Amino acid sequence: MRFLIVINLAGKIAALLVGWGAPVVALALWFGPDLLLAYHIFVPSAQGLVRVHHRFSTGRREVWLTIDDGPDPEDTPKILALLAAHEAHATFFVIGENAAAHSELIRAIAAAGHEVGHHTHTHPLAWFWCATPSRVARELDDGLAALGAAGVNPTRFRSPAGIKNLWLGAALRARDLTCIGWSARGLERQGGDAATVAARATRGLAPGAILLLHEGPRVPAPIRVEAIRRVLEILQEQGYQCVVPGPEQLQN
Ligand SMILES: [Zn+2]
Repeated sequence: MRFLIVINLAGKIAALLVGWGAPVVALALWFGPDLLLAYHIFVPSAQGLVRVHHRFSTGRREVWLTIDDGPDPEDTPKILALLAAHEAHATFFVIGENAAAHSELIRAIAAAGHEVGHHTHTHPLAWFWCATPSRVARELDDGLAALGAAGVNPTRFRSPAGIKNLWLGAALRARDLTCIGWSARGLERQGGDAATVAARATRGLAPGAILLLHEGPRVPAPIRVEAIRRVLEILQEQGYQCVVPGPEQLQN
């Protein structure tokens, strides 16, 4: 992170020194490092600001199913039943506000042997990239408090839409939270039926993949739960088990 900031400041100073003598060069020096910084903030797989894990190592046909944006009173119980029917384990990256409203669902997820992860308190999409240190801290600590009240101490975090910011890495380290990305996602709001979404989420399927799907009202109604049902069927057909990997298995 320091490297990115130093590059950015150095570019600005160099641009001022070059000035109107060479305006094209000055503009490139001014905005070039901004583009580099934007890449590391907005591209989910970029590692410049926060170390993000996108795969895990395994010698077996295993994948990690992760379900974001819950808990949801309609979807979560159905998803828990599906996971039980497939003897699958998953991680639910939940939103703190939802967890506070439905702590019974957080307890049910944990009681069924699944992992509860942290997905911020309010799921900020518009301003998370430029959040101040105190807002980042509030997003993390309010979520931790909501989960703690339900008896859960998460060790893993997923950014909203994979967006990062300058302060996130240190804030996660201070709270012993590991940032988890994905290797494939369903992109439920990009159109298609449950089969299309499931095909996207299982594209390039290989041992150690991290699959990302969503629950709750932001998922289009016809594919809510159904896309996850179809993913579980595909995984079973192909002989994959859904596991929650240990910390030593995580890879970039
Ligand atoms: Zn989300």
